[in-house]
Amino acid sequence: MRRRRVPWPLVALASLLIAWIGSRTDIVTRLEQGMGDAGASMLQHEIDSDVVIVAIDAKSIAELREWPWPRRHHAALIEKLAEAPPQQLFIDIDFSAASNPLDDQRLATAMAAWDGEPIILPAFFQYASASSTALVVTEPLDILRPHVAVASVNLEPDADGLVRSVRRTWSVAGRTLPAVAAALGDLAAENDAEIIIDYTISPSSFRVLSYIDIVANRTPAEYFADKTVFVGATAIELGDMVPVPVYQSLPGVIVQALAYESARTGNLRFLDERLYWLIASLFGLILGYWFCRQTWQRNVLVIAASMAAMSGFALYLYATFDLIIKIVPLAITVTTAYLLATLRSLESETVRAMMYAVGFRKREALLNSIVLSSTDCIVCIDADGSIRTANPAAASLFGCELDELVGASIFDFVPELTTRDDESQSQVFDRAADSILESNARTMGGDNFPVELSVSRVQLTEELLYTAIIRDISERKAQQQQLQFQATHDPLTSLPNRAAMAAHLDACLAQHRSDSPVALLMIDLDRFKEVNDTLGHNVGDYVLHEVARRLADVASSRGFLARIGGDEFALVIDQLHDSNVIAELSRDLADCLKKPIKTSGIAIEVGLSIGIARYPEDAKDAETLFKYSDIAMYSAKRNGAEFEFYDSSNDRHSVRKLTIATRLRQAITNSELELHYQPQVNLKTGRVDSVEALLRWEDAVLGAVNPAEFVELAEATDLIRPLSNWTLVRAFEQAVAWQDEELELRVAVNISARMLQDVGFPELIANLLLDIGVSPKQIELEITESAMMVDPQRALQVIEALSELGFLISVDDYGTGYSSLAYLRDLPVHALKVDKSFVLNLHRHAGNRVIVESTVQMAHALNLMVVAEGVETAADAEILRACGYDFGQGYLYSAALKPDALSEWIEAFNSEGSADQSLNLAQG
Ligand code: C2E
Ligand code: CA
Ligand code: CA
Repeated sequence: MRRRRVPWPLVALASLLIAWIGSRTDIVTRLEQGMGDAGASMLQHEIDSDVVIVAIDAKSIAELREWPWPRRHHAALIEKLAEAPPQQLFIDIDFSAASNPLDDQRLATAMAAWDGEPIILPAFFQYASASSTALVVTEPLDILRPHVAVASVNLEPDADGLVRSVRRTWSVAGRTLPAVAAALGDLAAENDAEIIIDYTISPSSFRVLSYIDIVANRTPAEYFADKTVFVGATAIELGDMVPVPVYQSLPGVIVQALAYESARTGNLRFLDERLYWLIASLFGLILGYWFCRQTWQRNVLVIAASMAAMSGFALYLYATFDLIIKIVPLAITVTTAYLLATLRSLESETVRAMMYAVGFRKREALLNSIVLSSTDCIVCIDADGSIRTANPAAASLFGCELDELVGASIFDFVPELTTRDDESQSQVFDRAADSILESNARTMGGDNFPVELSVSRVQLTEELLYTAIIRDISERKAQQQQLQFQATHDPLTSLPNRAAMAAHLDACLAQHRSDSPVALLMIDLDRFKEVNDTLGHNVGDYVLHEVARRLADVASSRGFLARIGGDEFALVIDQLHDSNVIAELSRDLADCLKKPIKTSGIAIEVGLSIGIARYPEDAKDAETLFKYSDIAMYSAKRNGAEFEFYDSSNDRHSVRKLTIATRLRQAITNSELELHYQPQVNLKTGRVDSVEALLRWEDAVLGAVNPAEFVELAEATDLIRPLSNWTLVRAFEQAVAWQDEELELRVAVNISARMLQDVGFPELIANLLLDIGVSPKQIELEITESAMMVDPQRALQVIEALSELGFLISVDDYGTGYSSLAYLRDLPVHALKVDKSFVLNLHRHAGNRVIVESTVQMAHALNLMVVAEGVETAADAEILRACGYDFGQGYLYSAALKPDALSEWIEAFNSEGSADQSLNLAQG
């Protein structure tokens, strides 16, 4: 699309307007003056002049020896000149102030005697004071004035300080004086307000005579007779120097003489303004028209030619017709017309392109600085893969100098960008273009590192190039790997976690589908909870760490080991194996924990239980495998076995366990449990003065649940705390109730092994004592030997604290654990309860009888009471009584009863004495 063009006359008019406006400005005026001055100095010439300068020069001052001169000298000069009178005489000396009257009078006389054209003396227009705008005129003395003519010597400089013209007349308060130049030529009435001083006239056109030479009669009269004589100071020291163009400065009198000559020749003038602008308009129109028709290149020639012509013509007019033509406005017209015409000739695309080029420069600079300072590596490659340019980041990325990089092949640094069959290099780049690739790169030294690469095509010229931005992503990769590791590993042991294990198992099953078998070993630590509770988490963590290390030593090479819970580990074996191999491995795993783990001076023993489930025979999916191995593990734990293979009959058990755990929690919160009390008969007195509290739980779904079963389950979970608390509260309250009924009964309460490991337990129980208001003397705490197994030190500490609170303490199930009597000696224990397994059918087991008898002797030696539990027959009771047992407890007397039933029973039993104990046998 072609742009609508501006009509050419508009171009011409616009340029004229601009030139006209320009000509009004100070800068153009000065330019113009400068050019005029230059022209004048070029045209400088001597003229045939009748001007004679009588110079008050250095020589005259030197000869007359005094200054200011007495005015009689001037009188003498006038008289001398009068002998051969000049045609006109201007004395440029200030006579406005009186000197000595004699001299002034002599001067006046000399002037009065002057014949011919009157002598011209200077007057000076000036401001009355520095702050005033009113003009005053300084004139010669009154005694001189009648004999002379007065003319203004004012010289007004232009804006640049140079004097170029004089005003033809000066007026103040109705008085009008001509300028000297006008007065001498009698030209005051001319039209022009100004006399333009023609500096092309050389001052050497004037004959200069020394003042003293005339006075001393050394100058021939013909030199000044009939001439126009200017008398004035030329000696520099007199200070009457005027700044002028061409000559820098001239004495005032010379400037006056030049002005006079300019006025006399009378035709140096500016071209009439209107005529000038008419010509300029014509000029502008012609050139505007011309420029608009021609190409800009040709117009350059025209512009140069017209400028030259204009200058030449102006000089010619000046020299020949004393006509001054302003050049600058014309020059402005021409150049503006040229520029506008050129702009006008540009296609819109070109204009846009020019604008763009201007913007592009900036953008290019910006881009350059971005590229240079970028921390990403930026390289430009050609279609063959050789590097054309690269930024500093690229050099440092590839470990070389920038100039080594240029010319090298990108494939040397990013080898993975290789071509496929039948593919050219540029096709590789095209394939990579406009997407972000991850690849491996290589430094010049051969180090590999991962990079992210984005390639894009650039087609600036005919040649197709590519830029590649390459970013080192080693750090990011490492971070990703670390995150990946964190997501799939346990931070404590650095083993894979449950999620990783599940993923691995899924992968194995997918791979092995009906192929070779997979086994899952669920490994659970025994007694770890106690370690954690009693020794703190730091020790617990250390133990786990060590266990993990040992397990990994054994199993890592044979399968995938993971930590899937607090003290649970799992091992997936997907290599060839039969039961024997797995059993062997399980034993190895158990064995590796046999050696105690030592930390901060303690040797800790933890065991493990392993449950094994197999694919495909046990389960067909991962979830079931998990479940079954868990069941097998639980069964192993219960049976005290190191490992067990899954057996479908275990299943029922585990379901029941889960049910018990959930329902027990409810039963505790809803207080659905009960405490029953079993009497302990004092075998010495035949009376009952103590009972044992035993838990009873009749669940709506499960029916009556054996306390041994649910207590063990509670101990394996956190339920043991609320359960223990509930039991203690209930037993204490019952003791208080009986006391209120004035029934003197000691209540024995079973204390879980877990509670004995808890250093907070004594405080808890002490608070209960206070709250319920029971006396500790009324309470007996039954503890088992196994309670001391994990940490005897701590258990001892707790037992001592309990004893200090005033409780009686007895050791339950004596004979089933490891403790020896010697060991018990150090404990604040009051009684032993020999386990019922020794007591049941005592009369039929000679071996048990030996144990029972020796135990009572040793216990008594240690001042311990001895209790036999499980007394079912009168025969057994008799044996026990005979060998010195203090108490008997068993179905022979009574099973555990509800509190009310018990108090009735005791009342009856005690009142009957030991008359017929067997009558009260209750069936358990
Ligand atoms: P244990 O402390 O040894 O309690 C004695 C057990 O022997 C009781 O079983 C009792 O009923 C039973 N028994 C009493 N006389 C005879 C007898 O002549 N022949 C036979 N065969 N057994 C007799 P129970 O009540 O089933 O308790 C079992 C275990 O449950 C208790 O053994 C004890 O370890 C635990 N347990 C019961 N109640 C509590 C409790 O309140 N707290 C704690 N921590 N454990 C309790
Ligand atoms: Ca007991
Ligand atoms: Ca017992």
